[in-house]
Amino acid sequence: MEERLAGLTAAAGVCAAAGFLSWAVRGRSAQVFGPSVWCGPQDRRALALTFDDGPSEGTPRLLEVLDRHRVPATFFQVGANVERLPGVARSVAEAGHTVGNHSYTHPLFSLRSARFIEDELSRAQDSIERHTGVSPQWFRAPYGVRWYGMGAAQRRFNLMGVMWTVIGYDWKLEADAIVKRVAGGVANGAIVCLHDGRELRVKPDIGATIEAVGRLVPVLLDQGYTFETIGRLLCPTNLPNAF
Ligand SMILES: [Zn+2]
Repeated sequence: MEERLAGLTAAAGVCAAAGFLSWAVRGRSAQVFGPSVWCGPQDRRALALTFDDGPSEGTPRLLEVLDRHRVPATFFQVGANVERLPGVARSVAEAGHTVGNHSYTHPLFSLRSARFIEDELSRAQDSIERHTGVSPQWFRAPYGVRWYGMGAAQRRFNLMGVMWTVIGYDWKLEADAIVKRVAGGVANGAIVCLHDGRELRVKPDIGATIEAVGRLVPVLLDQGYTFETIGRLLCPTNLPNAF
């Protein structure tokens, strides 16, 4: 009996450890593998739109939608996509949006070496800096997955991790469903995660994202929200950007 109990206790310990690890890797509030934020201060009616996986061939259309409403956003660019579409990457920065680092090849970082992780962040940082003139201060982990070595890499490049308050699942949902999800999930200080690319895909179809953003922005403006870049959302005393 005692042996059985000991076995059960050990199994429970393993389960708890596995649960902890999965939270540490993917939990939006976890900072085990590196510093990160998942929402801004809740005392102001402000939120931040963030777009991952770009630049893509669809990004210019998204920029038009944001420009029409004079709304700033934060774009977590993938280095390999920046190399493919450097002009699009640059136009994002030139339009006054914030550009962040979303790795070089969009890998899943779990079980990878610290050196691999540092190399991915470093190459993306270089590529973004070379083509946009901006040295990113913000990092979003692909799939939201953090791992051993990420914190050291973030410190080396002075990158703060950014998770999200609400994610649109815009890579698989129709515009209607994306609008419903995001509109239902935002609150003061929300960080909204959407995508202007689809991992490393060439000419991805981001029509649902663009349509959803075109409908969401006026709705949220009507609700009294202002849109801010990540830097300003998290630190309102930062100088206003061009918008
Ligand atoms: Zn991504």
